[in-house]
Amino acid sequence: MNTTGSNVPVVATSDVVVVGGGPAGVSAAVSAARNGCSVTLLERYHHLGGMASGGMVLVLDDMVNGQEITISGIVDEFVQRMEKEGMAVTPPLEDRYASEEMYRKWARWGVHDFHQAKKPQPIVYATAFDPDAWKRTSLDLIRENNVNLRLHSWFSEAIVEDGVIKGVVCQTKLGRQAIMGGVVIDTSGDLDVACGSGAEFTQGQYIVTTVFRLANVDTVEAERFEYEEPEAFAKVNREARRIIGGAWEMWWLKTPIPGIVWCNCPHMPGYDGISVEDLTAAEYEGRERMMGLFHYVREHLPGFENASMLGAAEQVGVRTTRMLKGEYVVTKDDIVNRRYFADTVCRGRDYYTPYRALLPKKVEQLIVAGRHYSAEPDAQKRSREIPPCMVQGEAAGVAASLALQENIHIRDVDYRSIQKAMRAQGADPGDVPSENATGVDDLAESA
Ligand SMILES: Cc1cc2nc3c(=O)[nH]c(=O)nc-3n(C[C@H](O)[C@H](O)[C@H](O)COP(=O)(O)OP(=O)(O)OC[C@H]3O[C@@H](n4cnc5c(N)ncnc54)[C@H](O)[C@@H]3O)c2cc1C
Repeated sequence: MNTTGSNVPVVATSDVVVVGGGPAGVSAAVSAARNGCSVTLLERYHHLGGMASGGMVLVLDDMVNGQEITISGIVDEFVQRMEKEGMAVTPPLEDRYASEEMYRKWARWGVHDFHQAKKPQPIVYATAFDPDAWKRTSLDLIRENNVNLRLHSWFSEAIVEDGVIKGVVCQTKLGRQAIMGGVVIDTSGDLDVACGSGAEFTQGQYIVTTVFRLANVDTVEAERFEYEEPEAFAKVNREARRIIGGAWEMWWLKTPIPGIVWCNCPHMPGYDGISVEDLTAAEYEGRERMMGLFHYVREHLPGFENASMLGAAEQVGVRTTRMLKGEYVVTKDDIVNRRYFADTVCRGRDYYTPYRALLPKKVEQLIVAGRHYSAEPDAQKRSREIPPCMVQGEAAGVAASLALQENIHIRDVDYRSIQKAMRAQGADPGDVPSENATGVDDLAESA
C-alpha cells in the first residue's frame, strides 16, 4: 500500500475529496460527481446530514425573496424525495400568503417568514422534514452518484506541499489514513481543513442548542389553547421559556410524524463549539434544562399532558465557530442591502454570495462551502441556513470539476463557467439579480 511521506497509508485517491457530510458536503460531493469527477466523501460520524439530521434542525428556511423562489438544485431533490416518503411537509402554493388563517394553519410548522416583523407573517416556500429521512436521502444520493463514502473518518491533518493541498489525513479506529485528491472541499462547518492548511480565519461564537423531540403531543389541543385562550397561553408559554432559559417564542414545531414535535431550545451562550470542555459541559446543561421544561409542560401546557421525552439530538447544535477569512469577506451590509456581485455563484433568500467568499487567500486547490464560509459573524448569522449552505456546496462541486477539467487552480476558474454549469444542473447561481438587489448599477458603471 502507498504511504505518505510521514508513513500514513493512503486508503483512497480521487479527483475530489470532500470533508464533512452535512448539507453542504453532500451537495458538494454529488455535484462534483455529476460533473464527471471521482469523489471521496469523509464524515466523522456514522450518519450524513450534519445539523440537518444529527443536530435535528428540521426546517429548510430561507428559500424565497418575496414570491420568488431563489433556492433550487440539489435541495429540491431532497424535498421531493422526502415528500414522496411522507417525511417532508411544504405549504402548497395557494397557502403562501399573509393572513391570520394561514398563520394559524402553518406557523407551528416553522414555514412562515420570520424575517418580517409585521404579524401575521406570510407563509412561504419552506419545508419541515424528518431527520432520518434526511440521512436516508443523503445516503441514497451519495450511492447513486458513485461517491466513495467513508464514515467514521475524523479529519485530523491537511497534506499541503508548496502551498497546494494534496490530500487529508483522517483518524480512524484503525489508525491514521490518508486520502489524496486534486481538489479538497472543506465542508466541516468548523473550517477544520482550511484551518489545518494554514488558511486565514476568524474565530466566531454564538449560542449552542441541545435540540430535542417530544412524542405523544396532542398538537390539535396545543394549538386550540394557543389561539382560543391567548392570555392563558401567553402566561404558560412565558413560564416555559423562563424555565428552559433561552428559546424563540415558537420553541416547539411540528414534524411530519403526528404527535412528535421538535424543540429548538435551550439556547446556551458562552460555549465554544470546538472546545472539548465546552461541548461536554453543554451536553449536561442542555439535558438539565430540557428536562425542566418537559416536567413543566406535562403539568401545565394543554396538549402536552401525555408527552414523552424522545431525547436530545445526537449532536449539540453549533451555529458558528471558525470562519474563513477568504478572498472576499461578506459583510452584514452586503446581506442586509442585498448586494449583488458579478461573481455570484450561489444565493440565499434575497442575498448573493460571491465566488471569492468560498476561496482561501493562500492555499491552492482548496475551497470551502457551508456555514464557515468567508463572512463577518453578523453576516453569517443571516446567511447560514441549510438551503444556502447546500447551494454553496453545489457551486463548490462544480468549481472543483471545472478546475480539474481545465487543469487550472480552482481560484482561477471563470465564475461565468460556474454560473453556466449551475444553471444547466437546475440550480440558481444568483447570476441574474432580482429587482430588489443593490450594487447592480455600480457594476454596470465599472464595466
Ligand atoms: C440549533 C440550530 C437551529 C437552526 N435552525 C435552522 C433552521 O430552522 N433552518 C435552517 O435552514 N437552518 C438552521 N440552522 C442552521 C443550519 O442548521 C446550519 O447552518 C447548516 O446545517 C450548516 O450546514 P453545513 O453543511 O455547513 O454544516 P453542518 O451541518 O455542521 O455539517 C458539517 C458536517 O461535517 C462533519 N465534520 C465536522 N468536522 C469533521 C471532521 N473533522 N472530520 C470529518 N467530518 C467532520 C460533521 O459531522 C457534519 O456532518 C440552525 C442551526 C442550529 C445549530
